[in-house]
Amino acid sequence: MIGPEIRTCPAVLPAPALAPGEVLVATEVTPQAGPRAPCPAAPLAAAELERAGARVRTAPVTLLPEGATSTVRLVMAEAATGAAARGPVLACGALVPAGHRAEGTPIAPDRRAWGLAWNAVETWARLARPRTVLLAAPRSFCAGVERAIETVESLLDQYAPAGVPVFVRKQIVHNTHVVRDLERRGAVFVEELDEVPDGGLVVFSAHGVSPAVRTEAERRGLGVVDATCPLVTKVHAEARRFAERGSAIVLIGHAGHEEVEGTFGEAPQATILVQDTDDVAALDLPADADVAYLTQTTLAVDETAEVIDALGERFENLRAPLSQDICYATTNRQLALRAVAAESDLVLVIGSPNSSNSVRLVELCRREGTMAQLIEDVSAIRPGWLEAAARIGLTAGASAPPALVDDVIAALRGLGPVTVDERTTTVETVRFAPPSSVRPR
Ligand code: SF4
Repeated sequence: MIGPEIRTCPAVLPAPALAPGEVLVATEVTPQAGPRAPCPAAPLAAAELERAGARVRTAPVTLLPEGATSTVRLVMAEAATGAAARGPVLACGALVPAGHRAEGTPIAPDRRAWGLAWNAVETWARLARPRTVLLAAPRSFCAGVERAIETVESLLDQYAPAGVPVFVRKQIVHNTHVVRDLERRGAVFVEELDEVPDGGLVVFSAHGVSPAVRTEAERRGLGVVDATCPLVTKVHAEARRFAERGSAIVLIGHAGHEEVEGTFGEAPQATILVQDTDDVAALDLPADADVAYLTQTTLAVDETAEVIDALGERFENLRAPLSQDICYATTNRQLALRAVAAESDLVLVIGSPNSSNSVRLVELCRREGTMAQLIEDVSAIRPGWLEAAARIGLTAGASAPPALVDDVIAALRGLGPVTVDERTTTVETVRFAPPSSVRPR
């Protein structure tokens, strides 16, 4: 059992000097003697401080002997004994607080920043204990997301050096980190085509677009690269097929989701959107109507089965798609999480709030009685969640980068030893070729 000791110590950090009001979070600590100690829980402390309204600076720091002249003082939690003596280390600091005034030039004590630093260290240090992470596999990127991201990357490689902007309609995939990263590399994200200049180059996102958007792009003379996931394209083709044979199409999905808008747009006059069994009961169609159903690719498998059953009870000639529309990646991530959720005190699902398959993973756990939280990244973890969580289930939605999973495990290791128990329910080998107009990287 780790019993972190809290002590204070003068320290120096790289220039510029710490400003009044700033709270320092150490990313690593170099003692006077001995090797540097990493501070893997730094992102947790930094996020908590920002939530408390602090201005946070992160930097590596060097400790000074007690009594040395310094403008900065740290409050540190260190493992007290044995080989673990240099980690977990959690260190936050501020300008020298009252009672620790440096010799020489007087420095105004920064009591507020010091208080916040102390609270951050105490808050996380009391959560230091051994934990197990039950890591669900498969998790994170699917083949459709990888293809869409690689498409934009290839176009940036190809066109950015010549100064040709690469526009992307909507988020290429529903993940804030992915979008920010591509933005940093030069991609220009727009909501609608009217933000793209005539003749410009635009990428359609993995969620697909309606025929109306394609027609508008053609009218405007835009160069289009279509990164729609092939499994979404398959659903579009089914919508056209059912509409051509005269079926009424019941589309099971979430109103307002881009994928649903795209599929609906294939046959708007023939399509009715339903979200649940109540919507099925309210359908104004006779029992012998020619009805076919399609679904969004990222729905909860069990909930969707209930809606399909309800449709089957209402319509005697219900037609199904040739193969199920909920995609392999959504299905696999739900099965994998189910395999760890029951044994977890807490499940963390990494993904953005607009990521349908990530939100479904959280809902799946909660339906089964396991506390689950959706987090964009490690900075969203709250101390209260970890109080009683010795076993933490961990997964990531199909649009969340795998590095975010590593970040969470690393930060938890800053709060004590972590045993990672990866549970693999299936091994995914699916890959999709890039769009024909894109050079493979
Ligand atoms: Fe394609 Fe499924 Fe991934 Fe969506 S979640 S991009 S449908 S593979």
